[in-house]
Amino acid sequence: MTGALASGGASPLGVAVAVALGIAAGYWLNAVIDRLPRQRPLWPWRPGCAACGRAFGGWQAWPLVGDLGRGGRCPACGSWAPARQLAVQSLGGLALGLVYLRYGLSAAAIHYAVFTLLLIPVALIDLEHQLIPHRLTLAGLATGLLLLTVGPIRPGSALIGLAVAFGGFLLLYLLAPGWMGGGDVMLAGLLGFYLGWPRVLVGIALGIVANGLGAAAALLLGLKRRRDYLPYGVLLALGGAVAALWGDQLLHWYLRR
Ligand SMILES: [Zn+2]
Repeated sequence: MTGALASGGASPLGVAVAVALGIAAGYWLNAVIDRLPRQRPLWPWRPGCAACGRAFGGWQAWPLVGDLGRGGRCPACGSWAPARQLAVQSLGGLALGLVYLRYGLSAAAIHYAVFTLLLIPVALIDLEHQLIPHRLTLAGLATGLLLLTVGPIRPGSALIGLAVAFGGFLLLYLLAPGWMGGGDVMLAGLLGFYLGWPRVLVGIALGIVANGLGAAAALLLGLKRRRDYLPYGVLLALGGAVAALWGDQLLHWYLRR
């Protein structure tokens, strides 16, 4: 299988390029997180101040470099750049850095780069708005369909993954209303399509375990009601990202125990 082993050929320059690409992608993904839940168009978009709306020009518009060069503040109004903007750029850099280290320069790397970047707005919009826009998951599925022509997942594996994950979550959604939203069902299908069968089971299992641990911790600490401590989609997205990077190893480890 493509990329079944960690790439031995990852170079420091490659890591730097991958991280830089991820940071740049994160810069735009932060705007997606701002705009998508508010039904605003995703394009055209220019980097600018979230407080006063002033567009940045030249080097000040560069991802991360611009933020650091401006000292994290807007030159016009002095507002600090939102913490989430930095967090999303860091997550983008981390995602592509890890994908490159794991898969090197390969078709699998492209497949999982798209998938892990997609999970960032999914998780953060769910965290902020408790919803996962269908536009996001449907765009992800359409892109995944294109990636089947080059990617490491066979069409049969992707379709079985999609059917099992989507079907299973749809059943839960119908049998136990209120446990999760329709966006979570769509996200499970997305995980199935990108991870394929049987690796999607790793992503979902990790999501369920993380959800259980979080729920137990919240109950023990008496923080909140069990259901509203963390949106389920955030944990499912995290499980999906871990499964994308180390799903094969986790599956083998589990089966050989
Ligand atoms: Zn400003």
